[in-house]
This record gives sequence, C-alpha cells and structure tokens, in this order.
Amino acid sequence: MNFDFKEEELIIKPYKNDESIYVRLQRGLFYNIRKYSGAFMMLLFVLIPWIPYKGEQAILLDVANQQFRIFAITFFPQDLTVLAALFMVGAFALFFFTTWLGRVWCGFMCPQTIWMFLYIWVEEKIEGNRNQRIRGDKQELDSAKFRKKTLKHAAWLLISFLTATTFMSYFIPVKTLYLELFTLEWSALVYFWVGFFTLCTYGNAGWLREKMCIYMCPYSRFQSAMFDKNTLLVAYDKARGENRGMRKRKDDHKAKGLGDCVDCNLCVEVCPVGIDIRNGLQYECISCAACIDACDQTMERFNYPKGLISFTSENALIGKKASIFRPKIAAYAMLTLTMFVLMGFFIATRTPIEASILRDRNVLYRTTFDGSIENSYQLKLTNKLQQTERFLLIIDGEEPITMSLTKPVTAEALEMVVVPFTLTAPPELLPEGVSSLNITITSLDSDQVNITKEVKFYAG
Ligand code: SF4
Ligand code: SF4
Repeated sequence: MNFDFKEEELIIKPYKNDESIYVRLQRGLFYNIRKYSGAFMMLLFVLIPWIPYKGEQAILLDVANQQFRIFAITFFPQDLTVLAALFMVGAFALFFFTTWLGRVWCGFMCPQTIWMFLYIWVEEKIEGNRNQRIRGDKQELDSAKFRKKTLKHAAWLLISFLTATTFMSYFIPVKTLYLELFTLEWSALVYFWVGFFTLCTYGNAGWLREKMCIYMCPYSRFQSAMFDKNTLLVAYDKARGENRGMRKRKDDHKAKGLGDCVDCNLCVEVCPVGIDIRNGLQYECISCAACIDACDQTMERFNYPKGLISFTSENALIGKKASIFRPKIAAYAMLTLTMFVLMGFFIATRTPIEASILRDRNVLYRTTFDGSIENSYQLKLTNKLQQTERFLLIIDGEEPITMSLTKPVTAEALEMVVVPFTLTAPPELLPEGVSSLNITITSLDSDQVNITKEVKFYAG
C-alpha cells in the first residue's frame, strides 16, 4: 500500500477553494421577474413600518415593552401559542411550495438573493462588466482602481445602513427612529444594533454571497428532503445538449455529431453560486434562472429552440408526465390549512386582558374594630386592547362579603395596572377556615372581556 501522500493531500477541506466568483449580469425574462419581485419585496420591507392604524404604527415588534402589535391585535409573551402556530403555518407553507416549486423562494424572494443581485448590479455600474472586473482585480492598485473600489464599498455600506435602519423601524416606532436619526439623538443601543445589522448586510450581500446559501442557510440543507421527481427545478437537458461543442452559426451541428450546447460557458459565468448546471442537479443551485436567460439568449443567436436549460422536473426530463396533485403536496397543503385555522382559533379565543388576583401572603386575615374578618389582595391586570378600558370586579353569588373596590379600575391601552383591595365579611356569616370565592372581571367599555378568577378567603 502506498502511504506516500503529499502534505496538501492530507488536508481535508470542509469548504471549496475560495475562488472569487465574477458574476455576469444577464438580462432576460427571469431577470425581469427577479427584478420586479425583488423590487416588490423591497418596497414592502420599506413601507410596512409606515402603515398607520388608529394613529399608531400598525406593525411593531416592541421588544422593550415585550409587545408585538399587528393592527388591532397586540401579542404579549403569554401568547406564545399563537406565535408557535404562526411559525408552523410558515414552515408548512414553505414545505408545500418547496415540494411543488423547488427553490423559487431562494431564487426570487429571499432577501439574501435580492440584496446579493442588488450589490452585483452596483458593482457592475462602478467597476464595469465581468471581464472588466476580472482585469481590474488583476491590475496593480492605482488611483483609478482605488477610487472605484472606495466608491463601490461606500455605496454598499450606504445601502447596508439604509437596510439596517429600515429593519430597526420594525422594533422602534418609525417616526421616532427617523426624527432621532436626523437630530442625532439615537441611544447607544440603537447605534449598536444599526451598526451590527449594517455590517451583517454588507458582509452577507457584499462578501459572503453564495457562501451564505451554501454553508450557512439551514433551508438549503433540508430542502432536498422535500424534493420528489416532480418538483420544479432548473435543469439542463442533457439528451438535447450533448455532445457539447463550439461551432459556427451556419454549421450543421447534427451532421458533426454535436448537440445543441455550443459550449459558450455563459450559463456558468452568470451563475451567482459558481456552478455548472450541465454537471447535473446540485444542492448549491438556488433556482435563480440566470442560466436559463443566458442559454435562451445563446439559443436565439444560433436559431435553436429555447429551453435547453429550463424550469422542469426530473420526470419531465425523461418524458414522464409531471403532476402537481401528489400525496406529499396534498399533505403539506392540509397541514398548512389546519395550522392556519388553529392560529385563527387561538387569536379569536384569546382573552384581551391578562389578570391575576394574589392574596397578601404576609397576613392570613385581620380582624377589624367591629369584629369583621378582612383579607387583602392585589389585582394585576394588563389591558391588551388598543384603547382605554374600565373594568368592574364583582363577587359571584350571594356571598355576604364586601369588596373595597367599588369603582371601576381604569387601564389605558396596553397598560398593566396593580391595584390592592380587601374583602371583608362579618364572621358570623362565614364558616371558619377557608372559603373559595369567584370574582368576575368585566369591561364596561367592550363586550369582549368577561373572565372569572377564584380566590381564597381565610376566616380563622
Ligand atoms: S445553476 Fe442556474 S439557476 Fe442554479 S444558481 Fe446557477 S444560475 Fe441560478
Ligand atoms: S449557455 Fe447553453 S449553450 Fe452555452 S454553455 Fe451553457 S448550456 Fe451550453
């Protein structure tokens, strides 16, 4: 056996060689779809924090106050079941679309892809097309190269800063955030998070790019488990394309034993993850369809039918009929729907207040000057509604007990109030020991609130 390995052969590399990928921007049908879907997603991202609702920001993740406001509903940490259901709806919907349409999310809607293509576009505008960029990077650093590189990184950083600030407007009321930006009144914490997200965006879209998708994104790791032979994916039609080879436009390539692939290498040059789709299906492929646009352009030039690389499925490639009505898809659709209904049910049945009544643990009971028995309690009430409410506490039944709280308790929108009160009973009317009482909390302003709490009354 030969154990005479060279040193570099003994190094196991967890990552591919870190070669720079110079992406050629390719226009075409899918470029336009990606451009408009990306613009739509960006517009949503920027505009959502500006949507008003009853004079407040409609969607706000108020981390400082532990509240998540979405139009008329405000979620608190206690509403974890709703958030869990929401995540499950998202997860099953993602499984459903992945099984059906493959990685369209990655190629057309994922922020990583949208920002990556935006950064590549900026790079091309400043440093030139792919060939100019390759040449430029090989050149010695002179003033022109320095100027271009500085301008590119400044533009990337500016986009990153705007992205980070917009992202923060989901956590801090948007008007306050921008007002304090222009008056330089941001707190150290806001500066920290904006700086952090600026660096994340700049690093991800400017430097890491495809490495983020290949090595870090969990979705790219488990999406293949959802694929089946009918899942839509970007694939090269090997039967039609091979044997690949260069030729002149007017050549009869079939007579030369050549397939339709003219080996122009454009599909590789436009690929943002740096793969050659002609080598078969690869997990790195994000289904951005840039190679389809590139190949279609070549096919047009050579007067061949388009679609040598296309959105297709493994079954369609071997001539089998692809159906979208498959048990796996139906199961994911059912699960998505079920979780959606469950989430709706949780939202519809959640109480719009959070209330607890705690006994004063220091004293079991007190005897007042006229011999009555008195117990002390503390009401803790959170009004989850987005308007001020008045709450009335009433003892259920015909108990001979009086409550010190005779007036309604007022709690402003999303406010938590703590109110101490006492219950008093003439001793002759209560049995000795512990009695259980029910206290109902009712809102005087809306008919949505009516909850009952049990309390213990000690009389000896
Ligand atoms: S192979 Fe094609 S679809 Fe896949 S990532 Fe590369 S360019 Fe995009
Ligand atoms: S773009 Fe099309 S023709 Fe050109 S190398 Fe790729 S598959 Fe072949």
